[in-house]
Amino acid sequence: MPINASVPRTDLGTHVVFNQGEALVDVNLFDADWILTALVEAAGGAGHVDLLSRFGARAGSEEVQYWGELANRNPPQLRAFDRFGRRIDEVEFHPAYHALMALGLEAGTSSIAWTAPRAGHVAHSALLYLLTQAEAGVGCPMSMTYAAVPALRKQPEIAELWEPRIAAARYDARCLPAHQKAGVTLGMAMTEKQGGSDVRANSTVAIAQADGSYALTGHKWFVSGAMGDGFLALAKINGDDSGLSCFFVPRWRLDGSRNQLELQRLKDKMGDRSNATCEMELREAAASLIGPEGRGVATILEMVQHTRLDCVTGAAATMRLALSNAIWNAQRRSAFGRRLIDQPMMRQVLADLVLESSAATALAMRIALAFDRSQADPAQVLLARLMTPIAKYWVCRRATPVVAEAMECLGGSGYVEESPLPRAFRQAPLNGIWEGSGNVIVLDTMRVMQREPEAVEAMAQFLLAWLPGQAERIDAALIAFRTGEPNRARQCVEHLAILLAGASLVELGLEALGIAYVNNRLAPVAATSFGAAALEDSLVDELIEWGALESGK
Ligand SMILES: Cc1cc2nc3c(=O)[nH]c(=O)nc-3n(C[C@H](O)[C@H](O)[C@H](O)COP(=O)(O)OP(=O)(O)OC[C@H]3O[C@@H](n4cnc5c(N)ncnc54)[C@H](O)[C@@H]3O)c2cc1C
Repeated sequence: MPINASVPRTDLGTHVVFNQGEALVDVNLFDADWILTALVEAAGGAGHVDLLSRFGARAGSEEVQYWGELANRNPPQLRAFDRFGRRIDEVEFHPAYHALMALGLEAGTSSIAWTAPRAGHVAHSALLYLLTQAEAGVGCPMSMTYAAVPALRKQPEIAELWEPRIAAARYDARCLPAHQKAGVTLGMAMTEKQGGSDVRANSTVAIAQADGSYALTGHKWFVSGAMGDGFLALAKINGDDSGLSCFFVPRWRLDGSRNQLELQRLKDKMGDRSNATCEMELREAAASLIGPEGRGVATILEMVQHTRLDCVTGAAATMRLALSNAIWNAQRRSAFGRRLIDQPMMRQVLADLVLESSAATALAMRIALAFDRSQADPAQVLLARLMTPIAKYWVCRRATPVVAEAMECLGGSGYVEESPLPRAFRQAPLNGIWEGSGNVIVLDTMRVMQREPEAVEAMAQFLLAWLPGQAERIDAALIAFRTGEPNRARQCVEHLAILLAGASLVELGLEALGIAYVNNRLAPVAATSFGAAALEDSLVDELIEWGALESGK
């Protein structure tokens, strides 16, 4: 006998499913994202909209979203030896990883910045932003491949060989010498056991060879994108402590033999699980010098400036993924007689998350725009010089609390592994750690500020141009910044990041959001949790409208 005859029975007996949402799939992650589409167009990317729209549809499709899940659930495996006991130092991936790599590379994620006549960096950032919402782990090898180009260009004969294979926008997963491959990926090997942030502690030694190449011996403690076709690495020539030099270490030697780079084990990571991060032993590995001897840190910083943009983009995309799921669920779930999206306190939380997410996305797109304009406009080079580390510090810091808050908006179903939120949560702190952890980024920023007053001036002009009503706050942040007091350094960088985000939103056409972001985050008594800012109802409505994923607006 049914317990309650008025409730229709189903095959599942008492288990009637109602008041549950559905997976956020088959939504075009570009077209339906008003904030992203507005920012991309304002940042000069209108010419890439068709590509991004096609890519947004793929990235949001049920199939590609499932690839992301599969690539994470089936992490890469090291195959150090073949079955006969010969070293091969290869990594085996799930087919879903390869499918995601092909999707991203063939759309141009690593190449478009260097091949598009206009707005290439904006297109790159937007592609990475969309791809990250399917799976973040593949973003790392693609980001390093993109970012290696300016460093490689320091050595034109190496760039000539490798850049065309990056520009080809092809994924070729075969482990073969690069000249036999349609496309390549590259990585970066800086971190050693005794020093990560403090790269000058690197002890890898480079010995010059008769043919002009170098042999590198040392141990690299974290090397991601472990199946890369080549790696930029730092080493000391003859172990000379006076300066590090930058080298390019290909996976295969010119004579067609495997280079002496041994993958000793893969890191068992908290997140980023589809990406293979290895410990790499260099045993007289053949390498070419990149840039001048002893100027390795400056050379590799060309690369790091670009990977830092990608940390901002990746963190912003992780926030967007979490936010989209939170709003999506709130639109479909009811509690206490009302949809969650109509509950006033939930609206405060969601609106506050939209504010944070849009600020992060605007920073990413504005830095990409500065990179795009930097050939023609030296002021943009100066602006990017400070804006990149400042945004890297702030946006990466905000990702984890944003994901945690968004996860809570889904209640218990946000905490289970079938939801994308746990994966996003584990990924969220990573962009803060690599490419300069928080304190190191702040110290870098302070150094730039002291050595390059013209960069501070460019930033001040940018802020005053777009936030003229905030002159007092801008002055206060800059004065504190100029004094370079270590105790206040984080606070100064934080305030500047908020102002830069506000100015970027205003410049890129989202004025109400930019002003609200600055006023809210720099309020004399700023709220310490999302939803506690007591935003005006009209602003809440506007923010939720901007933040909800909807096509055809
Ligand atoms: C998943 C993953 C993948 C990675 N992939 C790569 C890769 O592909 N290539 C690569 O080269 N590296 C890679 N790394 C390494 C990463 O870049 C380093 O972990 C990072 O640079 C920090 O270095 P560390 O781990 O040695 O920490 P440390 O340098 O020991 O720093 C520890 C903490 O101390 C702080 N700190 C350091 N100096 C100061 C100071 N003067 N004042 C105040 N605080 C300070 C730092 O900010 C940090 O919070 C990867 C790391 C992870 C987690």
